Amino acid sequence: MIPILDLSDEIKKLRPELDAAIAKVLDHGRFIMGPEVKEIEETIAKAFQVKHAIGVNSGTDALVIALRAAGTQEGDEVITTPFTFFATAESISICGAMPVFADILPDGYNIDPESIRKNITPKTKAIMPVHLYGESCMMGKIMDIANEYNLKVIEDCAQSFGARYFGDCRSCDGNCSQEKLQGSFTGTIGDAGAYSFFPSKNLGAFGDGGMIVTNDDEIAAEARMLRVHGAKKKYHNEVLGYNSRLDTIQAAILSVKFPHLEKANQGRFEVAQRYNEAFAELKNEILTPRLTKGHVFHQYTVRILNKDRNEVQQLLKEKEIGTMIYYPIPCHKLPVYDSIQAEVPKTDMATKQVISLPIWPNMPIEKQNKVIDAVKEILG
Ligand SMILES: *Cc1c(COP(=O)(O)O)cnc(C)c1O
Repeated sequence: MIPILDLSDEIKKLRPELDAAIAKVLDHGRFIMGPEVKEIEETIAKAFQVKHAIGVNSGTDALVIALRAAGTQEGDEVITTPFTFFATAESISICGAMPVFADILPDGYNIDPESIRKNITPKTKAIMPVHLYGESCMMGKIMDIANEYNLKVIEDCAQSFGARYFGDCRSCDGNCSQEKLQGSFTGTIGDAGAYSFFPSKNLGAFGDGGMIVTNDDEIAAEARMLRVHGAKKKYHNEVLGYNSRLDTIQAAILSVKFPHLEKANQGRFEVAQRYNEAFAELKNEILTPRLTKGHVFHQYTVRILNKDRNEVQQLLKEKEIGTMIYYPIPCHKLPVYDSIQAEVPKTDMATKQVISLPIWPNMPIEKQNKVIDAVKEILG
């Protein structure tokens, strides 16, 4: 069986360094907010050229805390995509706000800026774009809308660690995006960005972990307070916060893995490129993802255009190819959001068509070929 993700080689290669980093934490014993937490915060802030990086317990907590630190509260509306992992919308609801679901682009998987515009009401407080599968959203247009309506932008970067934005312009003339944003890392463009270090994410820890990045001093101070029970000074709690710190051991592991990230993301891109080339002859059967500059291919996701997607998944399974459906139910159709209506035909369509194929950095060529051959046999 070829799994959808296999990190065993990466861990084997880094094992001595990982063992040493973990042993160091056991030796000094500062398991909560030890020096390694500050170290990874500084490393990421410097690499992504952002003023503040704040380690927290998970990507979900990073979203919740970033939203609250940016002032989101009961009665607010936050516009987001329904084509995402539940945690995106859940974080909005946990703040007491209401998720409002905009549709995705016709030719991609990210939120459509025009649909954001249509969903703005006097209650709208923020926009939460999700850089799904590792591809940056159209941040130029999204920031233009946010500036026009004075909205906060909290980026869900759980799937886009290391991804960069190089313009909106695959469907327009190039003048829509703000030039100064070109080349920025996702998460550093809006008011705040939230990363996840869940083990399967592009930068994965060996447990839960997350991080908030922001250039805004006030959001940073608020987030630092919220992650330690709402106290700026210990035992002087000012608001209801969370117990949401990044474990020292996880931070130490992340510091070992971080220097290899760019190469790993490049490796994912190369696999995607090879798949796209191989599947070009099936262009009436599958829609392959765009090889957008800066894309980090957290997932390699295609649309099955003519056959039943679930049947294709079953046939791939019989050929020992692991696949996943991200996501089988869009957020607006989840039982928890029974009361929310959303007119999002493009999301509903994508939900029926998508299937994600195996991809990871340094995926052996023979395994790539097995995936390619199986897909060609089933859809050719
Ligand atoms: C993984 C993920 C999250 C949540 O991250 P956790 O670290 O698992 O809490 C949020 N949003 C998206 C899009 C994700 O993929």
